[in-house]
Amino acid sequence: MHYISTRGGISPIPFKEAVMMGLARDGGLLLPEILPQVAPETLSRWHSCSFQELASEIFRLFITDIGAEQLDELITRSYSTFTHPEITPVVKKGEMFILELFHGPTLAFKDVALQFLGNVFECILEETGSRMNIIGATSGDTGSAAIYGVRGKERINIFILHPHKRVSPIQELQMTTVTDPNVFNLAIRGTFDDGQAIVKAIFNDIPFKDKYSLGAVNSINWARILAQVVYYIFAWCTIKQKTGKESLDFSVPTGNFGDIFAGYIAKNLLPQGAIRRLILATNENNLLTRFVTRGDYSVSEVVATSSPSMDIQVASNFERYLYYLYGCDPVRTREDFGLFSKSGKLHFDADLLDKVQQDFASKSVTEAETLDTIRTFYKDHNYLLDPHTAVGVNAAQARTSNDIPVVCLATAHPAKFGAAVTRAIGKAPILPPGLDGLEDKESRCEVLDPDVRVVQEYIARHALL
Ligand SMILES: *Cc1c(COP(=O)(O)O)cnc(C)c1O
Repeated sequence: MHYISTRGGISPIPFKEAVMMGLARDGGLLLPEILPQVAPETLSRWHSCSFQELASEIFRLFITDIGAEQLDELITRSYSTFTHPEITPVVKKGEMFILELFHGPTLAFKDVALQFLGNVFECILEETGSRMNIIGATSGDTGSAAIYGVRGKERINIFILHPHKRVSPIQELQMTTVTDPNVFNLAIRGTFDDGQAIVKAIFNDIPFKDKYSLGAVNSINWARILAQVVYYIFAWCTIKQKTGKESLDFSVPTGNFGDIFAGYIAKNLLPQGAIRRLILATNENNLLTRFVTRGDYSVSEVVATSSPSMDIQVASNFERYLYYLYGCDPVRTREDFGLFSKSGKLHFDADLLDKVQQDFASKSVTEAETLDTIRTFYKDHNYLLDPHTAVGVNAAQARTSNDIPVVCLATAHPAKFGAAVTRAIGKAPILPPGLDGLEDKESRCEVLDPDVRVVQEYIARHALL
């Protein structure tokens, strides 16, 4: 399997090279050359797989330059840090299935991909005897998950930009209390979008990128998308086993279009109709909902909500979907992103919108609805939703056809967002062992201006060479 760019400017490369490249060198995003179709007999074998076995099966379709045994070893190691034996269990609450993705070391779904990515990086670097510097922007959860994925690894330094004072106190502490010498936390005076723009600009500075062997952990990295495909199919298999149902909707709280894009890939791997529709749930930052419902993709101001990991206006993975929407046309993709970077908007006509709506439905959920959903769900099911998950559950409840089951992705543990939960139910969630006592730990963080040059200078001073 080889990887190509959505903008058509690179010759096909194998998986390991794609992982190291992160953002494609022509400014596009990397995608597999073809999307394999899973044969029915393969699928029936998958039904009895554990999460790790299923990961191995799926990864092997997309990773042909790492040996099967080594791949399995990477998978085993990556998921040994999870506290639940099923890794991503499905629970049923009323009529709804909840896919719990928060049993990893930092209690959010990003661990599923970043534990694996950290180990893949290490494996490749050992093989080539080289080093790398990871740089990434976070709205809160990616940062800690990425840091936990690579802390203490000898051949890697990691630089994580988070928006200063705009992440939850626990999110901040989860990052800044990791004081391994290879971890650098940079608090940027600005929004997540400022941080992400800086990271993109640095990756587009090819001489700088090459000099410091920069690697990406943002969801622009294909390995992250790939690892997330696994739990969609795992949930589909689990529910088919339990209920005999072969068609599902998934509701996905979305910011960067990363997680839901993994769902789109899963939808395309499975037989037609296995995943009927992906419900794209947004908070009050409703760019993607406007896209799905009206064909209007236009950036506006970021507003702060109780689901901060979705307070995003530029959805970095959107380009991948657009490439498929345009029938794998890199010229059209490149042209439209050229337009978009100038005007901040794209418009889609009725034909394209129709295509979009065959794959997606969408709802933008208000703050009041989010808190109300946490409260009601707790009252009805004695089960606490984190605010991101609540956005997804609320959007799922708004489905117009309830004829098939819906699976809501629970993207974070409620204790990570204790303030919002407390506002909803009048008491704080119980902290799980991993979060207890964080305030008392030693912490380390640098506050910087939102300026590409300032960040580059910092990296230059602290990078591994
Ligand atoms: C990152 C994150 C999201 C959004 O995921 P995307 O891949 O950016 O769409 C949702 N919920 C939580 C808890 C997150 O950390």
